[in-house]
Amino acid sequence: MTALVTDFSEWVIGAELSPFSIEESIQKRLRLLGSQGLTGMALSGIDMALWDLLAKTQGLPLATLLGGQPMELPVYNSKGLGIIGPQMAAAEAKGLVAEGFDAIKVRLGYPTAKEDVAVVAAVRAAVGDEVRLFSDYNQSLSVTEARVRAIALKDSTLDWIEEPVHFDDYDGHAEVRAVSDIPIQTGENCWGPHEVAKAFKAGACDYFMPDAGKIGGVTGWMRSVALAEAIGMPISSHLYPEFSAHLLCVTPTRHWLEYVDWAEPILATSMQISNGKTQPLEGPGAGLEWDEKAVEKYAFR
Ligand code: MN
Repeated sequence: MTALVTDFSEWVIGAELSPFSIEESIQKRLRLLGSQGLTGMALSGIDMALWDLLAKTQGLPLATLLGGQPMELPVYNSKGLGIIGPQMAAAEAKGLVAEGFDAIKVRLGYPTAKEDVAVVAAVRAAVGDEVRLFSDYNQSLSVTEARVRAIALKDSTLDWIEEPVHFDDYDGHAEVRAVSDIPIQTGENCWGPHEVAKAFKAGACDYFMPDAGKIGGVTGWMRSVALAEAIGMPISSHLYPEFSAHLLCVTPTRHWLEYVDWAEPILATSMQISNGKTQPLEGPGAGLEWDEKAVEKYAFR
């Protein structure tokens, strides 16, 4: 990954600071190799850096440069709640809410549907009725099993079921969605607006959640959420909360910001969360400031 970004940088250094033009030229060079997987992540990262820099040269927050304005956003705590069983999940869920959130996400995909249902019930009992509760299967089920689970979870008070089947099995997603009373969420593994168009055409989901680092950075995000706006598809973010906060501010169908604190060890700034709300970091660009010593310490060589 580091090698790819370094290699791609040779195509960028010295070019005009024009993210669209640079995206076009990198895509052309990747025509045969493809822009999925590591190449897609390198492309996305460079695009994010270019937009961040463009906003900084104008002295504007990224959301403002993109034609919007920073605003308060609903945010959910996406930390923890792995496959840890009902008792531990219930205890951990309480702690996650106590950090200032009113929405959390539980990972499912236990050996049986009954266990999934038990975990959701335990978490719900622990956090009460007012907390929004999302769930994530991380692509772990077959379409048949996902249909069984969606039906079993029908009365579970979940607000969404995420990635029940393989990420690009859009028809499979649609089959699960057809029997599910709970909205289907997906999108974190889509590589660019072309994939998004296919997912929407297949009726794969009720909600969509692009990952800025896979969808093609700011450029890919803006093109993808334009498709979502046209069909009224609610858009949540996946990872990169500091950056995604700006992007949701310019997303007409904005839904939820996913919060994790995984970058905090290398950041000098951190997002403020209270009463289930947050806003983009202040300052020009995305507002990210690195803790240079920590970056040095953790850098891949
Ligand atoms: Mn997920």
